Amino acid sequence: MKALQYRTIGSAPEVVTVPDPEPGPGEVLLKVTAAGVCHSDIAVMEWPAEGFPYQLPMTLGHEGAGTVAALGAGVTGLAEGDPVAVYGPWGCGLCAKCAEGKENYCLVARERGINPPGLGAPGAMAEYLVVDSPRHLTPIDGLDPAEVVPLTDAGLTPYHAVKRSLHQLVPGSTAVVIGTGGLGHVAIQLLRVLTPARVIAMDVSEEKLELARTVGADETVLSDAQAAGRVRELTDGLGAQVVLDFVGAEPTVRTAAGSVGVEGDITIVGIAGAGLPVGFGLLPFEVSVAAPYWGTRGELIEVLDLARAGAVSVHTERFSLDEAPDAYARLHEGRVNGRAVVLPGG
Ligand code: NAD
Ligand code: ZN
Repeated sequence: MKALQYRTIGSAPEVVTVPDPEPGPGEVLLKVTAAGVCHSDIAVMEWPAEGFPYQLPMTLGHEGAGTVAALGAGVTGLAEGDPVAVYGPWGCGLCAKCAEGKENYCLVARERGINPPGLGAPGAMAEYLVVDSPRHLTPIDGLDPAEVVPLTDAGLTPYHAVKRSLHQLVPGSTAVVIGTGGLGHVAIQLLRVLTPARVIAMDVSEEKLELARTVGADETVLSDAQAAGRVRELTDGLGAQVVLDFVGAEPTVRTAAGSVGVEGDITIVGIAGAGLPVGFGLLPFEVSVAAPYWGTRGELIEVLDLARAGAVSVHTERFSLDEAPDAYARLHEGRVNGRAVVLPGG
């Protein structure tokens, strides 16, 4: 089958032919219908050889959807042809966190070498994908896989981030979304549907801010050194109750710190690597700062239910598997608006 692989450190991903995979006992083989292109893959492909955590070559794609093509020995509850989305942050299924559905925080995944598809295990940018357990599949009957596949990360991750701060987002409150790309433009919609908060969106490009307005941002602010000042102006000097940073770089964490109000929440989702010092006098009183990872199995079901209800929709740009390297190049250059989705079926 064809697959998009990251093959050598520092090189662009390539479409290659690899052996067709077969599901082992307990596993499920999917014929991939859609796979999402995430900025995290670009970050991974910029990591140096020293300490690189995954084996290469590696098939990319940690947002996946497909139809069941074959069941490994012992798998029940699914039938050939069932349309499903893949829950990506695979855990052991047995530890205390997994028992709560928080496989994203599995206590033993790292030591046991359990990796998400596309981030260690073979990913969804291929004609077929092996999923390690039916536990990691959610039915998507009635939904368009290309439209919902980004929800498995670009929806689930902001959903988890917004949920942590729901108690803050009362009437009259303000939420700031920094970076209105794949994750950010879904975050704006989630804030609109889950809370009465006013949403201020920030990005570096006017095109991205246009999309932010289209999906429901009340205000848009160009992300520059004055951006935090603009948020203070828009909030009568008080600052925002919640700031979600979907970039996580030095300038954006500084903007987050300058935008947040007393007792507010800063959630750094972007993995550009900047830190934000927390200590007395460094931030407004009692601000809490968190850097979460992905979301829970239950939350994925909730996000897909929001899609079913028509409450969130992903702005997608579609590519064939042969065009997938171009999708990554465009994302790297900031030329994808919304989410790029690869359709291995053509
Ligand atoms: P994306 O490229 O689609 O979106 C990023 C957006 O940020 C773009 O619109 C870009 O124009 C904007 N941007 C860049 N620099 C900016 C700045 N200085 N100020 C304001 N906006 C700026 O990326 P994505 O796929 O949505 O991912 C966003 C981030 O979240 C990435 O760092 C990704 O690796 C990370 N991520 C984290 C998790 C997690 O679990 N923590 C999960 C998925 C993605
Ligand atoms: Zn991702």
